[in-house]
This record gives sequence, structure tokens and C-alpha cells, in this order.
Amino acid sequence: MHRVYNFSPGPATLPVEVLEQVRDEMLDWRGSGMSIIEMSHRGKQFMEIAGAAEQDCRELLAIPDSYKVLFLQGGATLQFASVPLNITGPDAVVNYVNTGSWSKKAIKEAEHYCRVHVAADAASLDYNGIPPQREWNVDPSGAYLHYTPNETIGGVEFHFIPNSQGVPLVADMSSTIFSRPIDVSRFGVIYAGAQKNIGPSGLTLVIVREDLVGKARPGTPTVMNYQVMADTGSMSNTPNTFAWYMAGLVFKWIKTQGGLGVMGERNQAKAEKLYRAIDRSSFYHNPVEASSRSCMNVPFTLADPDLDPVFLEQAATNGLLNLKGHRSVGGMRASLYNAMPEAGVDALVTFMHEFEQVHR
Ligand code: PMP
Repeated sequence: MHRVYNFSPGPATLPVEVLEQVRDEMLDWRGSGMSIIEMSHRGKQFMEIAGAAEQDCRELLAIPDSYKVLFLQGGATLQFASVPLNITGPDAVVNYVNTGSWSKKAIKEAEHYCRVHVAADAASLDYNGIPPQREWNVDPSGAYLHYTPNETIGGVEFHFIPNSQGVPLVADMSSTIFSRPIDVSRFGVIYAGAQKNIGPSGLTLVIVREDLVGKARPGTPTVMNYQVMADTGSMSNTPNTFAWYMAGLVFKWIKTQGGLGVMGERNQAKAEKLYRAIDRSSFYHNPVEASSRSCMNVPFTLADPDLDPVFLEQAATNGLLNLKGHRSVGGMRASLYNAMPEAGVDALVTFMHEFEQVHR
């Protein structure tokens, strides 16, 4: 078997043990004579898979009973609209913190439904940092405060939970969820596309506090309605059964690794190693303020951008794939999700050092 180190931002590398289990169970899931993908979502077998996935998700994140856990479709992008449709009335004011590309997309979508008040904007930091909270201007009459705990493109991560000044806190945790422990009780809504730390794309995890459920605007599409989806166990229509099953396997994998505390320690160690390699040389550069550097997505540039294609090609030859930075940023980006082993980071750091020796 040939496996590369896949630094893709998402869909992203998944634990080999999980992929092997999926392979082994593909044709005949536990003696059923059929694959997961072929089973009814309402059958006993899939209901058990779905229930176990929710249970493990709740356990890993220590989700209080007062929260609903939904397994939806439409990606994090649909949640950009679902959040305002579910928890605000028409003409509501909503607070957003703009720390980069994904915040901007969330804001743009919310503007279709609400009056968006940008409570803080990292423009003056060139979106390479987070404005200090004392400079935020949160409208306390706003329906919620939305932020992006990890900007997947810019590589900017919050290493604190903002004070939402009494309004429900909403977080797009797509590229940071399950990377370390979080205090769910501080949030009104958490949502995340699955294709980084959870499993395949096509699944969206939504964790929503009960008091925010049941307030959807009239006309909210049924599959976007938190109340309907909570009441039907996320099965108002046919869910993405395969992604849900795989998410359940990934949750079990995280548990066997020791849970989110262990994930957090490993992720921090991996990220520190890579940032150290970048910082010790003028050949490489990461522009993000030290206190806001992402543990999941590490963008970096070469001193000579003409070398970018050479770097990418030789990296690929060395089994280091998908390191090209987002087109809006350029350069490189290494995504270090849970399933990226430390050995992958070691291999990248060694390659970077050797590349520099030849090309500096
Ligand atoms: N938010 C963030 C932080 C993301 O990284 C992404 C995807 N990379 C999205 C939203 C969009 O997610 P989806 O493609 O699942 O709609």
C-alpha cells in the first residue's frame, strides 16, 4: 500500500485505521450481507450507528444535555444562512467578527437575512491577527455574536473564547473542532463541515443550545430548520449515511487515542515544530501574529516565490502532497489535522531544510 502525507485543507487526511475498517466492512457490514451505504437510514442497524456517533460526539466534547446535536447536509456554507434563519427574526441586528476569508463569507450570507454589525475587523492587521477584545464593539441588542475560531485560509486561530457580552455566541468551527477540548457551554451554536477533523464532506455537525431551537422564521426550508431536524433525529429527509457512519468511526478513533486532551497536545507539538522550522530561517515566512497562529493550518511563503512550483513538485516527489496555499494567499499551506501524524510534520520539516540548502 502506498500512502502519502496529505496536507490538504479539506477534504483531508483521515486515520488509516478508520479507512481500513471502512474497507473491511464495505461489502458486508457485520454480517448483514450489505454495505452501510445500501442500508435504510431508518433500519435498526443504521439507527444504532447514528445513535452511537452522537453519543461519542457528546462524550468527546462533553456536550451538556441542554444542547441538540444535529448531523446535517449542505456544509458549513449552508449554516451561514441557517443560523440567521433559525435564531433571528426579520430586521434583526447580528454581530460578526471579521478575521478573514471565511468570516467574510459568513457575513455576506447573513446580510441576506439580517442587519450585520461588524463588531471587530482584522483589516488593520492585514487579517494576520485578531483585534484585541477591548477594541471590539459588540451591539448587546444583537441576536448573536458570530466568529470563526480558525480561519482555514489565513491560518489565524483564536486561542481564547470571546466574551459575547450576554448575546449567544455562534462559532464556525469547521477547521478546529475536535482538535482540542472546548467548553461547549460557552456557545449558543457551534457548526462545522465534517471534511477536516470529522470525516468525509457532505456532513455538517451542528450543536445548538435548546433555547435557540424552535425560533425559525416562517418559510425556513424544512431541512434547515433546527427544530424539525432535532425532532426527527436529523432524519427529516435521508441523511448522508456514509459520512455519518464514518464520523462515528473517527469519533471512536479519537477516543482510543485518548480523547481531545491528547489530540490538543499532539496538535500543539506538531504545529510548534513546523512554526519553529519556518521561524529559524529567512528562507520561509509565516505572517501571522504569534499569539494567533493556527495549530491546524500553517501558511508559509518562500523568500523567492519563483521557487513555489519547484518546491511543490519536489515535495510531491518526496510524498508530501497538497501543500499549495489558497489562491488568495499564495505560497504554501500545511494542514495538520488530527490524522496527520507527527512523522508527516517531521518529513516536511526535513524536506524544507534540504530544499533551503539547495536553493538559498
Ligand atoms: N468555514 C470554514 C472555516 C471552512 O474552512 C470552510 C471550508 N473549507 C467552510 C466554512 C465551508 O465549508 P463547506 O465547504 O463545508 O460549506
